[in-house]
Amino acid sequence: MRFSDKVAIVTGGNFGIGRGIALRLAAEGATVAIAARDENRGHRVVEEIHDLGGECEFFKTDVTDEAEIIALIDNVVSQFGKLSLLVNNAGVGSQHCGIEADDPPAKRWQIFRRANLDSTYLACAHALPQLVKNPDSAIVNISSTASFHGNWGLYGVAKTGVDGLTRSFAAEAAPYGIRVNAISPGWIETSAQETAAAAGSEDGDWDMPPSLLNRMGTPGEIAATAAFLLSTEASFITGQTLVVDGGLMILDYPSRPSLESVGHRVYSHSGKYEAP
Ligand code: NDP
Repeated sequence: MRFSDKVAIVTGGNFGIGRGIALRLAAEGATVAIAARDENRGHRVVEEIHDLGGECEFFKTDVTDEAEIIALIDNVVSQFGKLSLLVNNAGVGSQHCGIEADDPPAKRWQIFRRANLDSTYLACAHALPQLVKNPDSAIVNISSTASFHGNWGLYGVAKTGVDGLTRSFAAEAAPYGIRVNAISPGWIETSAQETAAAAGSEDGDWDMPPSLLNRMGTPGEIAATAAFLLSTEASFITGQTLVVDGGLMILDYPSRPSLESVGHRVYSHSGKYEAP
């Protein structure tokens, strides 16, 4: 129960990774405010958390709207008395961004920038005056390994901004004892069928494995990392982006066939061991 006296906002906490984070923080004692637009999904997660004995409320919020972010923080503080943890998880990826083929550059950039980067910046900035009032306050921003790759386009650019903002805001908030970190998830299964199909496999027999561990990650695995970074166990970690991708980023995919052709000669062992 690392968060028993904490009040947390989780943006996009009504679905996927955000839902996983909301469930985890509530399970560890936090009062959780879920901020997103879809009320039905939001209320479902609130009920789930209540059924597990946790404290949770849904606050209908469009995080691209500064006035709504201000209202969210005001409402959370007036209802629960304080704000100690902020998780900026809401975002828009390439699949459901709503961009049409003939949309102009400014519109494309605005869609990715507003949902992923502006929202994170505005929530950090408006939360800071409340976070400073409480000991051990912390922020976690959800970035993406797309920020390391060129082929994710403007989504990756916006998430690179989240990584930069995390460093900048960590420096700004450090004098108040507030830590700011980011998590860069790899492939995370939020809706099993949809995401498996998108990655080329529905049965785990991957054409291109989504991680070194031959599977996608789970929202619970991102939630466990978020809980660690928000807790005092991470008390000397700030301004960092932690990659949680099952090792995908450490693999040089194009070199795989040629490395496989030389067998185990490049490794320190022969590879003749029996796996359990
Ligand atoms: P989705 O990307 O499918 O859902 C996004 C969440 O953000 C929803 O809860 C949605 O709620 C919320 N959201 C989007 N726009 C807004 C808005 N304008 N105002 C308020 N809330 C908004 O979920 P995932 O779990 O896949 O992604 C969560 C985060 O993790 C995102 O930032 C994503 O970029 C990142 N990520 C995900 C990866 C993955 O493999 N799943 C990999 C790397 C990063 P609503 O529509 O109700 O507002």
